[in-house]
Amino acid sequence: EKFLQVIGEKNLNVKVVKDEHEDVRKTGCCGLCSLGPLVKIMPEGYVYSRVKVEDVEEIVEKTLVNKEIVERLLITDPITGKKVQRLEDATFFKNQTFYIMEAIGTSECESIEDYMARGGYSSLAKVLSSMSRENVIDTIKKSGLRGRGGGGFPTGLKWEYVYNAKGEKKFIVCNADEGDPGAFMNRTLLERDPHLVLEGMIIAAYAVGAQKGYAYIRAEYPIAVQMFNKAIEDARRLGLLGENILGTGFSFDLEVKEGAGAFVCGEETALLASVEGKRGVPRPRPPYPAISGLRGYPTLINNVETYGNVPRIIRDGVEKYRRNGVENSPGTKMFSVTGPLKLTGIIEVPFGTTLRHIVHNICGGTSNGLRLKAVQIGGPSGACLPEEFFDLPLDYDTLKSVDAMVGSGGIVAITEDRCMVEVARFFLDFTRRESCGKCVPCREGTMQAYQILEKFTQGKAGYKDLENLSVLARVIKTASLCGLGKTAPNPILSTLKYFKDEYIAHIEGKC
Ligand code: SF4
Repeated sequence: EKFLQVIGEKNLNVKVVKDEHEDVRKTGCCGLCSLGPLVKIMPEGYVYSRVKVEDVEEIVEKTLVNKEIVERLLITDPITGKKVQRLEDATFFKNQTFYIMEAIGTSECESIEDYMARGGYSSLAKVLSSMSRENVIDTIKKSGLRGRGGGGFPTGLKWEYVYNAKGEKKFIVCNADEGDPGAFMNRTLLERDPHLVLEGMIIAAYAVGAQKGYAYIRAEYPIAVQMFNKAIEDARRLGLLGENILGTGFSFDLEVKEGAGAFVCGEETALLASVEGKRGVPRPRPPYPAISGLRGYPTLINNVETYGNVPRIIRDGVEKYRRNGVENSPGTKMFSVTGPLKLTGIIEVPFGTTLRHIVHNICGGTSNGLRLKAVQIGGPSGACLPEEFFDLPLDYDTLKSVDAMVGSGGIVAITEDRCMVEVARFFLDFTRRESCGKCVPCREGTMQAYQILEKFTQGKAGYKDLENLSVLARVIKTASLCGLGKTAPNPILSTLKYFKDEYIAHIEGKC
């Protein structure tokens, strides 16, 4: 608003058409959250960081009018120590690989016309005009795309199950109930490139034969809800949604359903119950949603990032998609990186990248000068990995082999000043509060485990508590009904495995 005002006051030769965003563009987050708000001046590409309203006059006067750089607002690269003028020159970006985030910092995220100008909806047109449903599923299977929501299930195979399932109707659902503390990849993608996700959903609907879809977005993401609703309206206006899409006879429509803040609704059966208007509580599987999902009909559920990969796989081909990543985990993954690092935010790297590359070469190492002791990966139910694992390739299978998981993609850096018992207590506090209470191992187990962890942090625990905690964590993991309970003990199990000395230090009163 301030830019528009100052440009208008100075009567600059800059055409400002606010409603169509021709010259002042809201591009959405480029991932460098710790240095925002960023302002990029084109065509030079200068980028200013941590811009305040009071800086706008100076930016307009110096850069737009006199073509000078405002040095003090340039980003200082924490790795080279030099000022960088353009985003692409920052090590943070140079050490990433952009595939799903290719429109980074340049596209007008609210505009369907902008999306189409960069090839958007050409994959949908290609699919509807020249590919059978089987061809589409086969392409996704060959790409090796795996679900980005946490489980890493092969996407093409899931699509095939829904396609082959018998049902008068079929549904598709986008799981955008991103409830992990410190994770905001889905939010970023929905706010930055909503049409990418929408196009992926329409293609998926065609492939499996669905007529109706829902985007289940958590209500705590009001901008994402607003952006996706606008994307739906614009797509309808241009005949890309609704009856007889692009004159091909294929009809499909979708709507946004807002989640009400329960973490467990990220679990697919709880999510479906919530869409149906019931309390969001998981149910046993089988039957899986692919066979009996929403209102008992076959239902495809994929995550935001999974759908977002689909248009480019169709447009650029399987081979290009597989150029990134490793054999069993091809492609790239978005991660949200938080904690005491010099740079934090959203990044995209190929599967197989190491944690060390992420925390040091992209995020610049720790900001407090302390040694990085551990990285917690995979959300509140993820494992805490010590430094000896920082060179492991990050992919679904390698992480599983060390009892960790990609999860939704949250990475939390933990420095040596933090107590790992306290870290485990913190995450268990979250999961025990979010337990829906349906099954005893999770409802009672997480509460009991939390109380034992509290005994440790209060200096009241003994060796017996150590043994009880270990047994209890395994019981919760084995006997809980859904993924929330099955993974909730992971921070306990991993800290017991890799940081047992810290538990003992609490018992012996050494900390
Ligand atoms: Fe609910 Fe926890 Fe049981 Fe899942 S494991 S159904 S969240 S009580």
